[in-house]
Amino acid sequence: MMPAAKYEPVIGLEVHVQLATNTKIFCGCPTGFGAPPNTNVCPVCLGLPGALPVLNRSAVEMAIETALALNCRVNPFSRLARKNYFYPDLPKGYQISQYDQPIAEHGAVEIEVNGERKRIGVTRAHMEDDAGKSIHDGFRDSDKYTYVDLNRSGTPLIEIVSEPDMRGSDEAYAYMTVLKQVLQFAGVSTCDMEKGHLRCDANVSVRLRGAEKFGTKVEVKNLNSFRFMKLAIDYEIERQVSLIESGGAVVQETRLFNPDSGETASMRSKEHAHDYRYFPEPDLVPIRVSAAWLDEVRARMPELPAERKKRFLDLYGLREYDADVLTQSRDLADYFETAAKNSPDPKATANWVMGDLLGALKAEGKEIGQSPISPERLGELVTLIAKGELSGKLGKDIFPKMLATGDSPRVIMEREGLQQISDSGALDKIVDDVIAANAKQVEQYKSGKTAVIGFLVGQVMKASRGQANPAMVNELFRAKLG
Ligand code: ADP
Ligand code: ZN
Ligand code: MG
Repeated sequence: MMPAAKYEPVIGLEVHVQLATNTKIFCGCPTGFGAPPNTNVCPVCLGLPGALPVLNRSAVEMAIETALALNCRVNPFSRLARKNYFYPDLPKGYQISQYDQPIAEHGAVEIEVNGERKRIGVTRAHMEDDAGKSIHDGFRDSDKYTYVDLNRSGTPLIEIVSEPDMRGSDEAYAYMTVLKQVLQFAGVSTCDMEKGHLRCDANVSVRLRGAEKFGTKVEVKNLNSFRFMKLAIDYEIERQVSLIESGGAVVQETRLFNPDSGETASMRSKEHAHDYRYFPEPDLVPIRVSAAWLDEVRARMPELPAERKKRFLDLYGLREYDADVLTQSRDLADYFETAAKNSPDPKATANWVMGDLLGALKAEGKEIGQSPISPERLGELVTLIAKGELSGKLGKDIFPKMLATGDSPRVIMEREGLQQISDSGALDKIVDDVIAANAKQVEQYKSGKTAVIGFLVGQVMKASRGQANPAMVNELFRAKLG
């Protein structure tokens, strides 16, 4: 047996999510990204002595929404706590977090890996404020400075701690994918990893297959992309297995992943672990979530992916696979739904979105939100085809032109003279010409080989540059040839 197969990896994730509030968690400063350094700050988020925090109500509501989206129990009473440590970008000298009484506990999400569904427990979700940002600049000796930007200081975060329920990096990847999808649908975060709105620490251990006890875990901190997370976990599993196989032992420590080398390296050992000296935050009252408030927040929760998928199946009659694809992101689901509402044929709309549109966007490296074709216009295209004003073939010709110009399909159709010919007088003439020019096939048809009608219709389509209405042409042939 290969060494790796003897062992089973165990993974638990701690995920930090930036809540999408307009203002910070304990002051009124804006949370916007990209402002000049140290401009979105005030005495509270600068940690000046005597400044007092005031809890942002909408941050609490988003935390409640997060909890509901993750099937957690929302605690009616929870408390903020000081987590003390020194760091240059932490001007208060402590982070305001939650410790023994978090706002939410006992949740779960469902993941699917290789067609198998699995439940991953969510231990807890707690609120906290973010620190500032250290910017390490300069490469020459004379220019080695670290700058501190406190714009991010005091931004509301929610930390989601999973149970050690994952058994491989693919399950961790699937868990992160579901988390991101659910939180985006709930509208509590953009989950934009490039902006650091979603960050993850991975706890990894290995044990002999069949063993009851968990092995010693290592925490890999600050993973800022799904891909790096997967690479870091895989590297850690391999490292721990070879360590144990060669007679060594895993030590509990914090490690960092280096994307350049693809390896993890020790940051600090357990002996050097922080003693955070947690204690209840004296400047803030406890958070009380009444049943009425909880109901109110629950009532205005946006639809989550599972409900949305069910509605796509029931209301639009989509296939399971299509409903899955179209609910991958809220933007995509919204796009499809607007397009479908503007067309009489939801299934055809789904095909256009999933096939032509997503294919074209992917080729250009664009997201659905950057589509040059608005959902209303795509719905219009499907409508024109459904009503027979455009043939399917002409629809395919017009689509790239919509993509290039963003124009409505009707405008393009009229500009380029691409309307379908549904005037029976005009079609009559072309059909007669085709009958005259193809005596052999006409004979075959009359002698019972009716399949040859496909060829004859094809000749009419060709003669009309694809503009003849195929259903009408079929009708005409049947009427004329008996
Ligand atoms: P700590 O006290 O070191 O912070 P916790 O028990 O709070 O540890 O767990 C932190 C995270 O580590 C959780 O996501 C949890 O699921 C995960 N975890 C705990 N034990 C293990 C283990 N042996 N292997 C992998 N992950 C673990
Ligand atoms: Zn402030
Ligand atoms: Mg912990």
